[in-house]
Amino acid sequence: MASTFYNEVLTDHNINPGHKHPLPDANFSLEGVNPSCGDDIVLNLKIEDDIIVDGSYEGAGCAISQASADMMLDLIIGKNIDEALKLRDTFMRMIKESVTEEELETLEEASILQDVSHMPARVKCAVLGWRTLGEIIKK
Ligand code: ZN
Repeated sequence: MASTFYNEVLTDHNINPGHKHPLPDANFSLEGVNPSCGDDIVLNLKIEDDIIVDGSYEGAGCAISQASADMMLDLIIGKNIDEALKLRDTFMRMIKESVTEEELETLEEASILQDVSHMPARVKCAVLGWRTLGEIIKK
């Protein structure tokens, strides 16, 4: 059952992505590439007064990389930079180590990607959007 739900959510974000489009008024854009899978996305953010007021992604990649970027944008749009970085750290730890139940809940739908931690070949796909987010914010 869990795996069916996982596949449904991934498929839904690939067929009906909420945030896959150009963002002409973005003030930060950065390409993120995962050569091991061929994922190549561009993350666009519009940041004003430390708040991520809008965001989108473009590009191509596997279902996990695309769904992960889409779910990430669901989470971070409307948040301030510190909140977004905290979500990023939680997501990275969920994939690479472990998180508490409370932390898992803060990731909402993106928490379904916890299963990826058991699929080493897909880890770079799942973290691509979040890694790119971190690189944008550090600049
Ligand atoms: Zn991939």
